[in-house]
Amino acid sequence: MKSLPIVVGLALVAPSAALAGTTPEPPAPPVPMPTVPDAPVVAPTPPIEEPTEPEQSPVGEGTPAPTGSALIAIDPGHGGADPGTVGVLPRGTATGLKKRTDGRGRTLLLEKDVNLDVARRLKRWLESRGYRTILTRSKDLAGGDRTFTTTRDDLQSRVDIANQAPASLFISIHMNAARSKTARGAETYHFRISGPAAASLANTVQDRLVTRTGLPSRGVRKAGFYVLKHTAMPAVLVEGGFLSNVRDSRLLATNAFRARVAAGIGEGVDTYISEGGSFGDPNGEPLKIKYWVHAGQFRQRALVLKRVALLRRNGFDALVRRRYSVRANRVMFFAVAGQFALLDNAKRLRAEMRAKRMPGVIGPSG
Ligand SMILES: [Zn+2]
Repeated sequence: MKSLPIVVGLALVAPSAALAGTTPEPPAPPVPMPTVPDAPVVAPTPPIEEPTEPEQSPVGEGTPAPTGSALIAIDPGHGGADPGTVGVLPRGTATGLKKRTDGRGRTLLLEKDVNLDVARRLKRWLESRGYRTILTRSKDLAGGDRTFTTTRDDLQSRVDIANQAPASLFISIHMNAARSKTARGAETYHFRISGPAAASLANTVQDRLVTRTGLPSRGVRKAGFYVLKHTAMPAVLVEGGFLSNVRDSRLLATNAFRARVAAGIGEGVDTYISEGGSFGDPNGEPLKIKYWVHAGQFRQRALVLKRVALLRRNGFDALVRRRYSVRANRVMFFAVAGQFALLDNAKRLRAEMRAKRMPGVIGPSG
């Protein structure tokens, strides 16, 4: 679904609750911040000193990729109470999936069902070629095979599974929708400020996907989707056709075509790795969010909400984070524009903010 991830991404990084003035997250327990002198100043604050610890190498650069050891996280979008987008087909159309009909007896093609079917096929395809895989959900449930509660929890579960494994690559599978019934084809996304590895992976996946399926190519695109932003390895999100388009949805209603979508994505992953593309270390430590890029810390919620709104007007996803400040001896509100495992990625976002004359400060996420 094309529109949903965008809406979802915004909703997640700047929960409407935060903008409405309610608490966006449980109160953080008091945590001392030994390495970061926290100025007791109202915004904008002087920059927090960057951590002096050695930088990790950026994801996907300089890490040789031994094929057999790659662990591919496959993320079937939506699930459980979140169906994703829905295609409508004539009564009696067989799909090879769980039977779904509307009140008029027409066949419904639910994105969550298509995504899971393609994901399972991709898993088999990759495993038959020696790759290890991990699914972020294996059933008609939210991420981690848990009951769907909120979109944020769902997406965070998926990110946690990939980061904690840790996976080498992350492939999120979705189907698209548009108001225009004529829109069709495939597109592949990477995070808008990702490193070259994710962009390269998106290119090979998109290329093999359209070759294998014959779908029109809508190209490689950049976005701020939650699962792309918060995963700590090269990550892409595939939109494998439009359920709002008659041609695409009829194709996606067949086992044979879904097998081609899976094979195309698999070939893209295989090509990326066999051509020397690199990935997060599958035997390394779990990757954790270590850095915040924020645009000020505030005593008053009203002020941090104003700053978050300003960030959003400038095209940055933002959310409110609370953290106890030892120096101020109180909880402060931070306008956080990004959370990263890798310092280089944090620096890229900071540069982008500064180019738009927004304050950008990197600090440990604590
Ligand atoms: Zn979707």
